[in-house]
Amino acid sequence: MEVQASFERRQTRRIYVGNVAVGGGSAITVQSMTTTRTADVEGTLQQIYDLTAAGADIVRCTCNELEAAEGLAQIVPRSPVPIVADIHHQYRMALAALDAGVHCLRLNPGNIRKPAHIRAVASECKDRQVPIRIGVNGGSLHPDLYRKYGDKVTPEALVESAQMELNYFAEVDFSDVKISVKASSVPLMIEAYRQLADLTEHPLHLGVTEAGPPPAGLIKSTVGIGTLLAEGIGDTIRYSLTADPVQEAKAGRQLLEAMGLRERKNVDLVACPSCGRAEIDVYEVAEQAMEAFGDKEIPLQVAVMGCVVNGPGEARGADIGIAAGNKRGHLFVKGRNVAVVEEQDMVSALVEWAELIHEQGFEAALAKADIVAAEREAERDRVRLLADQGSDVNMAQQKIALIRNRG
Ligand code: SF4
Repeated sequence: MEVQASFERRQTRRIYVGNVAVGGGSAITVQSMTTTRTADVEGTLQQIYDLTAAGADIVRCTCNELEAAEGLAQIVPRSPVPIVADIHHQYRMALAALDAGVHCLRLNPGNIRKPAHIRAVASECKDRQVPIRIGVNGGSLHPDLYRKYGDKVTPEALVESAQMELNYFAEVDFSDVKISVKASSVPLMIEAYRQLADLTEHPLHLGVTEAGPPPAGLIKSTVGIGTLLAEGIGDTIRYSLTADPVQEAKAGRQLLEAMGLRERKNVDLVACPSCGRAEIDVYEVAEQAMEAFGDKEIPLQVAVMGCVVNGPGEARGADIGIAAGNKRGHLFVKGRNVAVVEEQDMVSALVEWAELIHEQGFEAALAKADIVAAEREAERDRVRLLADQGSDVNMAQQKIALIRNRG
């Protein structure tokens, strides 16, 4: 007999990272981080789509140099999930990431230490209504706190570091915050999060830092994160593995599903955010698709993409998807174009193919497709759109100019 556990969750405030709710009773979200150079726009976007297909709800990218901020200006408008910019030592990179339009910042209090800089970033975030994660890390604890606690990283030191940062934020009346107190020691991070949970209502981001490669890294992360979740602590999670980040996203998702905290029985619909290249009203088509799939028990990931220029490639991790181009819908399965339909038939074709895959499997569905013809048509529409729209449809160059002026 299967016993369904239920964990009473700690009450926290709700914040929004882009359109994704964190805390306040919302679904626990999975995060991961790209390993590409953020300046490599296409490579980073590809990884973001792969992570999304693997179950990530929010993705973090490093913003460690001006070129990274400029990359973010081009990545954010095309990312299917909200983007968090990871800021290291330079507070100016935080300001540049905000210019680029990121949905959240991650600040490490051990690395950006000048109160005036911290207040400047918090104040700018407040004006732009962008939340911050205070990301305390045992490996880079503020040296004053390290000394204060006897040259040791202790749970109290991690918690005090978070509180100090919160106090700086309070000086500029900023509280749109989530917090992490990660350590590579599982007992240490568990205790730090327990203490923090008693002291604050801010949502908590759980993780075991530098957990290492699988299987040990998976075990450490699962024990640390799982123990806290079972106590009702935690609003968003990240596995930090020395491995392909797709493994992190998958592991996070599987942990939540195993604990009965997330489920995927039906279609998991992902849609691109729609940018200057969109050929259709992505929101409307995504909504129509949601309605058409309704309660159908088809546990596939389905993508609705605004353009054939980037859609099939970006969403190649999805099981099936549709991308608009030149008044036609291009259907793709695992990134391979399989059919071209009229724009008004996009949703019905999507449902039909999803049912076919669910009933007969991927191979049978692909065997029915004329892939060569579908790819030729997709390429034709792609070339045509690029010629019509030009290369800078998202006006990323304007944002890049702003970032360069500030730098
Ligand atoms: S319209 Fe195209 S380029 Fe823009 S976000 Fe959607 S798929 Fe990506």
